[in-house]
Parts: sequence; C-alpha cells; structure tokens
Amino acid sequence: MSEVASQLALVRQSLPAGVTLVAVSKTHPAELIREAYDAGQRIFGESRPQELREKYEALPRDIEWHMIGHLQTNKVKYIAPFVSLIHSVDSAHLAEAIQKEAAKCGRVIDILFEIHVAAEETKSGWDPDELRTYLAADPMAALPNLRVRGVMGIATNTDDETVVRHDFETLKQYFEEFRSRFGETFDTLSMGMSHDYRLAVACGATMVRVGSLIFGERDYSK
Ligand SMILES: *Cc1c(COP(=O)(O)O)cnc(C)c1O
Repeated sequence: MSEVASQLALVRQSLPAGVTLVAVSKTHPAELIREAYDAGQRIFGESRPQELREKYEALPRDIEWHMIGHLQTNKVKYIAPFVSLIHSVDSAHLAEAIQKEAAKCGRVIDILFEIHVAAEETKSGWDPDELRTYLAADPMAALPNLRVRGVMGIATNTDDETVVRHDFETLKQYFEEFRSRFGETFDTLSMGMSHDYRLAVACGATMVRVGSLIFGERDYSK
C-alpha cells in the first residue's frame, strides 16, 4: 500500500460514520491525488482556483472538488462550472460573484459561510454579528443559484486544547443558530484540520479538512 493510502486509511478509521472527509491536496501533484483516489477517496479540497481547475482537468470526473481557501471574486469563474462546495464564502460581494458565475453555467452551487472565530486577526471569515445582520435581510432571495449548506471555520492555531475546543464549540453554536433559518439542507459544519480534527469531531463537525496528515508536509516553494 502507498504511504498516502495507508495514511488515508488511518484517518478514515478514526472518523465516526456521518463525518465527511475532505482530503486537502493543495500544492500536491495530481499523481499523489491519484493515489488517494485509487484508495477510494472522492472528495478533495484545494485553496487556489487555477490549481483547482488544472487538477479537475487532469483527474477523473467523479471527483468532488471543494474550494476551501480564500476566494477572490475575479477567480470564481475558474471553478464555477464544476466545483461541488465552496467552504470559504466570507463576504456578500463574493456570494454575489458566485451567483453571477453559477447562473452563467446554469448551476446551483453549494456554499458554506466561513465564520471567523480564531484569535488570529489574519484569518478570514465573517464576523458573526455581521453575518447575522446580513442573513436577517434575506439575501438568499437574490441568490437563487446558491444553496447554503452550512458553516465553516478554522480554530486558533495553538496547542492549548481549551482554546481550540472553545472555538469549535462557538462554531457549533453558530451552526445551530443559522440552521434554523435554512432548514434541512443546512447540514454541514466544516471544521478541523490535521492537528485538531479529532477535537472538531468531538465538538460536532460533520466535515473535516485533512491535508498534511494524508499527503505529508506541503512545500510552498515549488
Ligand atoms: C490547508 C488547509 C487545511 C488542511 O490543513 P492540514 O493542516 O494540512 O490538514 C484545512 N483547511 C483549510 C482552510 C486549509 O487552508
């Protein structure tokens, strides 16, 4: 078995039924993704639109591609024709850009609202109060080609488990709060990465985004 296949198996075994694994393949070549694909993985996450587009073109069509990184409005066009889920919707402006491109392709695109909960100011996402205000005005009425599936978040980058747990519990609370607005199809709470996904699952994640634990460390210099 390849290293990727065995790491993938380990991560899978650690996830309870009902938790979806997004294998985060950003920066890694198509051949490595192929190894995970051959081991049965079908959902992959990427953070750069052009890279995502290239991998989509190079790899089998039954892969579900998730956009998990910050997305600029002028790059939505690269992924709108095929992307399965955009985790990182962090502004009204971006939601409108996705609406426009989705309509052009005749698609309804699933999205998550990214909520900022971490202590670091650099991390992206909605301020929760601003998201609440935005949703109160019923913006989805003007966004018929978007389907809101839930929320996504990134916990503070620290070894202090108390802090990380608090971030995940906060995300879970917002998930519950906003779910009451959207109903049945609002079913996705995307949180947890390689170093903290087990805690995220314990706090109610329905989707985890695991990269380096499966594919190894990333080399951004390449
Ligand atoms: C890169 C990335 C991940 C995966 O991180 P790992 O630590 O490699 O598991 C998850 N979520 C987001 C938003 C990312 O950008």
